[in-house]
Amino acid sequence: MTQKKHIEKKALFDVQKIRKDFPILLRTMNGKPLIYFDNGATTQKPNQVIDAIVKYYTGQNANIHRGVHRLSQDVTVEYENARVTIQKHIGAKHEHEIIFTRGTTESINFVATAFGKKFVNAGDEIIVSEMEHHSNILPWQQLCEEKNAVLKVIPITDSGELLIDEYKKLLSEKTKLVAIVHVSNTLGTVNPVKDIVSIAHAKNIPVLVDGAQSIPHLKVDMQDLDADFYCFSGHKMYAPTGVGILYGKEAWLKKLPNYQVGGGTIKTVSFDKTEYEGSPLRFEAGTPNIEGGIGLAVALDYINAFGLENIAAYEHELLTYATEKLSAIEDLRIIGTAKEKASVISFVVDGIHPLDIGMLLDAQGIAVRTGHHCTQPLVAHYQIPGTVRASFSFYNTKEEIDVFVNAMMKSIQRIRK
Ligand code: PMP
Repeated sequence: MTQKKHIEKKALFDVQKIRKDFPILLRTMNGKPLIYFDNGATTQKPNQVIDAIVKYYTGQNANIHRGVHRLSQDVTVEYENARVTIQKHIGAKHEHEIIFTRGTTESINFVATAFGKKFVNAGDEIIVSEMEHHSNILPWQQLCEEKNAVLKVIPITDSGELLIDEYKKLLSEKTKLVAIVHVSNTLGTVNPVKDIVSIAHAKNIPVLVDGAQSIPHLKVDMQDLDADFYCFSGHKMYAPTGVGILYGKEAWLKKLPNYQVGGGTIKTVSFDKTEYEGSPLRFEAGTPNIEGGIGLAVALDYINAFGLENIAAYEHELLTYATEKLSAIEDLRIIGTAKEKASVISFVVDGIHPLDIGMLLDAQGIAVRTGHHCTQPLVAHYQIPGTVRASFSFYNTKEEIDVFVNAMMKSIQRIRK
């Protein structure tokens, strides 16, 4: 990189300037400036995304794929352009491999239902891991109960890494699918999904990746990862709630039966026979979250202007800084110390319930997550009631981490008094 380019990149990444794009960051909470460290749960939205939604409702609103009138046609083009933006962002080969859903949870339920209906039978096995979010356990658990199939679980080390040798042992001719999280929402572990996919593919087993926590932080490329299905949510990457993506390889989507059916999915309907559209329309029944889809593409353009590599590098700096500062607090134990981590830091303090810490931090204007983070089997592994979790975005700062660490020390002192 030339010196000039380097300077340009640095100049692009001005955190104080970025913060001005997020109006909510200006508000106070309990009389203190809001410090928002709950980005793993949902991220805040920049003006660019908020403006796109306002623009949609003030000047563009119409239903898509149906109208001959201009308003409908224009917004259909914008919605379909959003699909292409998403396709390009994740390196999918075809735009019809991008299916709009309500979010990661619906995307996983979609595959569990459609894939399960056709490809899973009694005695078959599905593999998940011990660090999965409930959204990547329950659809498979339910499917296994319905089909008399078996759910197998890849165990983890205490540092929060998958035991890859154990994973290899679990794979057999009975395995129908592997469903694995890319970045753990509780531990921050970045799993070696590319290896996990290639190990499964060597046995012709497809892999679904839960990308809810990776998409906002890492550059992912479907051609490189080679995952068969990849799921994520808009709201965790600066886009509106209620919209998400299921990426599926063309070859798989062709084989999947319908998930939901209804308006928008058909070529012709009669009471005798219905002819369905191809992907993606066949999989997108009913009126979708139109402004959400458009907002998702705007959010991607927004983060891509800074570069995900720059975002990841800065967030890693925040993670390292917070890890150092928190580690110095007596009786504080970090849960999740994998070598490869995204900007999530979970911890417990001996003898203090995470909820009590969360409430005292809230009183000081600091929003963190406390509890099991929808990963109860994972917190059971550590034999803890849950953790306090701080998850950082590229709009957070080291100064905020200093305030947070001081507030932590004050809170512990107060509880111990
Ligand atoms: N998987 C992971 C790893 C998550 O962190 C989350 C959200 N916390 C989900 C799945 C579910 O995402 P959503 O609620 O947006 O469907």
